[in-house]
Amino acid sequence: MTHYSRRTTRRVVTVAVLVAPFAALMMSVMTAATPIRVLLIDGESAGTYHDWQRVTPVLRKMLDETALFDVTVATASTPEPGAGPGAPSPQFAPDFSKYQVVMLNYDGPDGRWSAETKASFERFVQSGGGVVAVHAADNAFPGWAAFNEMVGVGGWRNRTEQAGPFWFFRDGKLTSDTSPGRAGSHGKRVPFAITTREPNHPIMRGLPRVWMHQGDELYARMRGPGKNMTVLATAFSDEANAGSGRDEPQLMVLSYGKGRIFHTTLGHDINALSSVGFIVTLQRGTEWAATGNVTQKVPANFPTANTVSYRADIAAMDPRSANGLDPLTSAPAPRK
Ligand code: ZN
Repeated sequence: MTHYSRRTTRRVVTVAVLVAPFAALMMSVMTAATPIRVLLIDGESAGTYHDWQRVTPVLRKMLDETALFDVTVATASTPEPGAGPGAPSPQFAPDFSKYQVVMLNYDGPDGRWSAETKASFERFVQSGGGVVAVHAADNAFPGWAAFNEMVGVGGWRNRTEQAGPFWFFRDGKLTSDTSPGRAGSHGKRVPFAITTREPNHPIMRGLPRVWMHQGDELYARMRGPGKNMTVLATAFSDEANAGSGRDEPQLMVLSYGKGRIFHTTLGHDINALSSVGFIVTLQRGTEWAATGNVTQKVPANFPTANTVSYRADIAAMDPRSANGLDPLTSAPAPRK
């Protein structure tokens, strides 16, 4: 009996030793086999404000290094030369249904996408597709009602009170103001503090209540329908830097039909994108838009309330970073 019992024990141990690495392998195979399919759209920015060609590989790198995503880039074709600023590019017709998330590094005018492409995008989000809007993507399509519902607030491109009220935080609550005026402004690019407003949301869980963001445009005076919108984080827009004197929404989540939208106003240039706070919220926000959950841990180098934290390898993806990380020389933007 003793002999038999020993053999049983040895067998159990052997099985456990074999199963553990196999289970780990299976987990990694399963993770690798089911990446989240992301369509990253670029191809246009109003004027030359945003270097979308250089920004796309940076966004892609951030997603790739999580090993959670399978990223496809679609560059929206520009219209024929001389076709006019609002001319359509009818050949841009991606099959959105092949993806779980559409990320927008894109700012085009109302007439650019065909009615069919717009309707297809609306169906994609209605039926549960995710959207991630980065920085000036919320300037796009001022006259496309469904798009403005998806992003909640937008600026520039002649948006006024017709776009909806101003949205901001006051006394700890999301507040709106219907007074007239143009939408969208920012001051000089300086580092600023981000305040977490929804610490229990999956994207924000584990982040500090207040954390510093690398030098960036602090979007303010944004207007829009603000429907089904939860503001995850705000930043104070200082009147001394052409600001509104209000706590302005910076990170938002929205729903449109069954679709989830993550909207970050951050990320003017690669210097701003190198901020660890931007990277982490983009990675987490993209996973959340796809699945409603976040499995990623907060890295140890996340910024604190007093200290900016940035990734030198990301900053170096802009050749101008060799001139210094953040010259802080840009003038406040005109209300274009
Ligand atoms: Zn910008």
